[in-house]
Amino acid sequence: KDESTVSITVVGASGDLAKKKIFPALFALYYEGCLPKHFTIFGYARSKMTDAELRNMVSKTLACRIDKRENCDEKIDQFLKRCFYHSGQYDSQENFAELDKKLKEHEVMGVWECLAKFSFPSVVMWIGGLSDKNITSDYWSQMDTALLLSEDIPSTFRNEKQRLQCMKELNVQGGRVSNRLFYLSIPPNIFIDAVKCTSSSASSGLGWTRVIVEKPFGRDSDSSAALTKALKQYLEEDQIFRIDHYLGKELVENLSVLRFSNLIFEPLWSRQYIRNVQLIFSEDFGTEGRGGYFDNYGILRDIMQNHLLQILALFAMETPVSLEAEDIRNEKVKVLRSMRPLQLEDVVVGQYKSHTKGGVTYPAYTDDNTVPKGSLTPTFAAAALFIDNARWDGVPFLMKAGKALHKKRAEIRVQFRHVPGNLYNQNFETDLDQATNELVIRVQPDEAIDLKINNKVPGLGMRLDHSNLNLHYAERYSKEIPDAYERLLLDAIEGERRLFIRSDELDAAWALFTPVLKELEEKNIIPEYYPYGSRGPVGAHYLAARYNVRWGDIGIEQ
Ligand code: NAP
Repeated sequence: KDESTVSITVVGASGDLAKKKIFPALFALYYEGCLPKHFTIFGYARSKMTDAELRNMVSKTLACRIDKRENCDEKIDQFLKRCFYHSGQYDSQENFAELDKKLKEHEVMGVWECLAKFSFPSVVMWIGGLSDKNITSDYWSQMDTALLLSEDIPSTFRNEKQRLQCMKELNVQGGRVSNRLFYLSIPPNIFIDAVKCTSSSASSGLGWTRVIVEKPFGRDSDSSAALTKALKQYLEEDQIFRIDHYLGKELVENLSVLRFSNLIFEPLWSRQYIRNVQLIFSEDFGTEGRGGYFDNYGILRDIMQNHLLQILALFAMETPVSLEAEDIRNEKVKVLRSMRPLQLEDVVVGQYKSHTKGGVTYPAYTDDNTVPKGSLTPTFAAAALFIDNARWDGVPFLMKAGKALHKKRAEIRVQFRHVPGNLYNQNFETDLDQATNELVIRVQPDEAIDLKINNKVPGLGMRLDHSNLNLHYAERYSKEIPDAYERLLLDAIEGERRLFIRSDELDAAWALFTPVLKELEEKNIIPEYYPYGSRGPVGAHYLAARYNVRWGDIGIEQ
């Protein structure tokens, strides 16, 4: 029973991510009863908007889960009533101070709700009296909560016993605990201005202040280090929540459960039994008019250096001492630091070109008006990485990520070694190379875990085929899976850092990719062009073949 208040400010509230992901995730947390009792949500951006306009904008993207449709409209209304907006510049201390004042008004209201609970109806009557006097923000911000909780309440309305109980509930000595979470959903060039203003003009006085920062965290080791240094001028490391929404995905969360709580997997999790690991990400659409941001980063920075590498680190880390955030993050850093920096010869880059199929012409990457003509930015990459430690020595970790491919998919594929001296070699119908066990963890869409095993085809005689032991989430669990942003926002509110990236993790991740990124750019490496909607450049297959690997997603039922 926490009586503290939490104010969540979405900085950049007029933007795409805020509308598409952040507000819907906050609403889902609200109707699941996961947000603290006293919470307020503020949108902050330069666009001029009233509270009503923000609510109208936000309402268009809110939806209840299929199994929670009852009273959905009512819940949306209740949620929207707690959403407010303040317009301001990202570098204006003055505008952030105005926001601070508005936040305080609502935080005081949190205290009032508590008082009202214990002193009802006397305090409520008194609030009613004050409302008549047309309370201004100044009035509230000048008030000292200590007074509010004691002398300022007219004695006729005061019940000393209830007041003391309320203060005990609030767990404060005359003050209020008002916590603040800022979600920086803005382009990277204004991060630091916004963090500076947040920290100096809108931090919480008595509670915690946390800041969620969205990728990109720099473009390379140097710019990332400069960003970290600048952030740390205004915030402590434990206030910074660097979000990688892949870490909030259900199947990525499950990776450690699968491995560490099943006897059948952990003993196999090493070079002794695993032949290779594949991390595959594909989108079936291109930049579609949003290439401006992408062109400056490319697929290696946008997907591989963060999302896929984070999954790799979780996959390959040693057993942590506990599930505490620091224990897990320590292991992830260790594995990243044991990796060889990516080499140019272990990378294949591609870019999608125009393609006509079924009478429809799909554009090339450079047909996007927001992309500079002649851009060489890769929209596809395949890479082979290696971990030089005792567990993974010599095991290729292959990554593949691309836009405008034939399928939307994110998965982890673990290919196991051959069974030594397999008695049944002559009974396989397929090529032996494909008859090894494979564990497929499909992160999205249609979450699933498949284990490919060799099985006898029923009937007389002895024929073996390669079949699946399936765990399809939609069939097994009749619930909608929470969006990654819900989990991560809740964790940030609760101070759980396990799924956020620590600065040393970030340094280690950039150290692996920075040299090859520089080389690709300095040498103006021409990407291999692949048709929109295809399976990507053929070079990815040659790269895999060099390490005796066959991509697991080739030849499977699509
Ligand atoms: P966005 O729509 O481009 O920008 C968010 C808001 O920032 C805009 O509504 C605009 O608000 C303000 N803004 C935009 N450009 C600005 C500029 N040059 N100077 C000052 N303010 C500017 O971005 P987004 O797609 O919502 O993404 C926000 C952040 O999340 C970015 O860092 C992005 O890289 C990251 N991200 C986005 C996604 C996604 O799916 N969209 C996914 C992962 C990470 P006002 O004009 O009203 O101030």
